[in-house]
Amino acid sequence: MASSLPKKNFSSSKDHTDDLEWTKDINTNSFLTEERRLRSSKQCSVKNPTTNQMSQKRLNKFNILVNQMTPEQLDEELKKRQLSTSGEIEIRRFRLKHYYKCELISGGENPLKMIEQHFEYIAVVDFEATCEEKGDNSYQHEIIEFPIVLINVQQQIIVDKFHSYCRPIIKPILSKFCTELTGIEQHQVDNAPPFVEVLHNVETWLNERNLFSSLNKRTLAFATDGPWDFAKFLQMQCHLSSIDYPRWAKEWINIRKEFAKFYPVRRCGIEKMLNNLGLSFDGRRHSGIADAINIARITLELMKDGCVLLFNDDIHASDPQFAALNEKKTEYNKNTDEENDLIVFED
Ligand code: AMP
Ligand code: MG
Repeated sequence: MASSLPKKNFSSSKDHTDDLEWTKDINTNSFLTEERRLRSSKQCSVKNPTTNQMSQKRLNKFNILVNQMTPEQLDEELKKRQLSTSGEIEIRRFRLKHYYKCELISGGENPLKMIEQHFEYIAVVDFEATCEEKGDNSYQHEIIEFPIVLINVQQQIIVDKFHSYCRPIIKPILSKFCTELTGIEQHQVDNAPPFVEVLHNVETWLNERNLFSSLNKRTLAFATDGPWDFAKFLQMQCHLSSIDYPRWAKEWINIRKEFAKFYPVRRCGIEKMLNNLGLSFDGRRHSGIADAINIARITLELMKDGCVLLFNDDIHASDPQFAALNEKKTEYNKNTDEENDLIVFED
């Protein structure tokens, strides 16, 4: 432990808020690489309760210590471990604690690099749709922008993008409100293919990159900010276009949900998530492609901090009103999270 850290009589502490259930945590333990798992099993067997208790105690002590660090001490400790010093103080404290937890579990240096992600690629989608200023829940939104930002998970970089506008059929003229909100101009949708054609182009684009391997279900996952893109806009659009809902969009990674589960923050929109990470929104807010790039930036930060991204949302877990658009019988409210994703617009 670094000499710059405050000294503390740990035994007198009553603070157990950071007690951890580290052996149960899916977000690290089960995703260690094989090499690390072997090392870990020799050094810190999860079957050994004494070792577990010792590790738990060490971690509790470390967490208390981190809570007491000044911002300068915290950043010094982060730098020593080549971790980012960017972001709100609570995020930075969490980053250090999480790193130490991974270190204890894996029993080695550079533990975050040894965590295995589940998917090879993550495709971030952010639809823009027709809208009215006072449109209610029955408003028939049509998708007018379809962007995809493709992340190579192992390389932790954006490797490709798909972008197309879509021509709305039911209400072909965009409202002034919609153009002001999204920045999408009438001529851009007038010159675009209708949604069904764009969807076909998307699937061709994904196929050309071998991202639809039926053999390997771990090749690609889609990610969105919240449940609305797929549960509301895509489902509504498929209903309006009289086409089947795509199989590949039945489950996805809800980044907003994962962000609030991983970091000690409340669920919030793209801009606030970026601010929490010490970043600012790049480009025009409510432009589909800019939103998708910014969601991708958040996704990359989550992975760099050691968050293992898995499916955490699906078409049945979202609002019954939209699930009902699906002709199949659906099980509602499978979402057990305390905070439900209401189908409302929120930043
Ligand atoms: P966003 O991804 O936040 O840019 O929003 C996606 C779509 O939701 C937009 O293209 C609009 O159709 C709709 N939307 C977002 N915010 C509002 C709002 N304040 N009022 C009406 N519709 C909105
Ligand atoms: Mg958007």
